[in-house]
Amino acid sequence: MDKIVKEPEGIPFLKLPPPDRLWTDAFNKKYQDNGNFKYKPATYIQVANGCWWGKCTFCVEQNNRYEVRPVDEVVEELKECKRLGFREVFDDSGTFPTGMWLEKFLERLGGTNGNITIGCNCRCYDYPFDHMARSGFRMVLFGIESANQHTLDRINKGVQIEEAVKVIKKAAKAGLEPHLTVMFGYPWESDEDSIRTLRLLHELLKKGYAKTAQASFYDPPEKNGNKSQKKYIRQIYRVAYSPEFWFNKLRDIHNTDDLKYLWRQIKDGLRLFTNQDNPTREKRWI
Ligand code: SF4
Repeated sequence: MDKIVKEPEGIPFLKLPPPDRLWTDAFNKKYQDNGNFKYKPATYIQVANGCWWGKCTFCVEQNNRYEVRPVDEVVEELKECKRLGFREVFDDSGTFPTGMWLEKFLERLGGTNGNITIGCNCRCYDYPFDHMARSGFRMVLFGIESANQHTLDRINKGVQIEEAVKVIKKAAKAGLEPHLTVMFGYPWESDEDSIRTLRLLHELLKKGYAKTAQASFYDPPEKNGNKSQKKYIRQIYRVAYSPEFWFNKLRDIHNTDDLKYLWRQIKDGLRLFTNQDNPTREKRWI
C-alpha cells in the first residue's frame, strides 16, 4: 500500500523503494544548485548503506552494517533517472562497492546507461578506474583527510599517504575527475602538519590530478578540534594564485559544459572566499 512516511520508521535499507524524483521535486533549482555536478539536471542515488571499511574513528559510518543493493535494481534506477532527463547522478553511499559487485555493475552499464554520468565516494583503493571512466563515471571523491601518516593511523584511515597519492593520480590519468577532502584542526596536529596537508592539496590541484577539493574542521562529537587551525580551511583558495593551476583548468575545457562548470566554480569560490559575514564557516570547497 502506498503511504507517505514522515518520520523514520526503521525500514531496512534494502527494503526502501527508490525515491520518486518528481514527487520530491528533484528538479527544483534549490536542489540543482546543491553538490558538485558538472551536468545538470542532476540527482543523487544510494547504492549502499554505510561503508565497506567503516573503521575511521571520526566517521558516522563507523561500525555501521554495509548493505549493497542488487546491481539490476540500481541499473533500473539509473535508466529511470535518464528517462526523466537527469544527466548526472552522484552516489552518496559512504563508499562505493568494489569487487564482484562493481565488475557486474560496470558490465551492465556498458550497454544500458547511455550517457548518464556517475560520481561516487571512493576509498583510496585500487578501483578499476579505466573501466569506470569508460562506463560513464566522472567525479570520484577521495577523503584523504591529512597528509600526515601519524594522523591517518590515529583516525584509523587504513591507508598509507603515498598509496593514496598514487591512487588519486591513477584515477586522474584514467580520465576521472578526483575531488579531494581534507580536515584541519586535529588536536594532535601542529601548524607544520596542517601546512603539509595544505601543500599536498595545492600540489595535486595545481598539477591537475585533483579537479576540485574541500576542507573542513575536525570536530566529531566529544572530541574538540584545535580551533587555531581553522585558518587553514580558507587557505585552500590560495591555489588560485598559481598559473599552473589555471593552465590545467583551461586545458580541461573541451565543451560548453566544462566552461559552465568552471564558471560556477569561480563564482562559488569568490563567494566563499569573500564571505566575511561568516568567518567561522567550517567547510569550504574550491
Ligand atoms: S572510508 Fe570514508 S566513509 Fe568509510 S569509514 Fe572512513 S571516512 Fe567513513
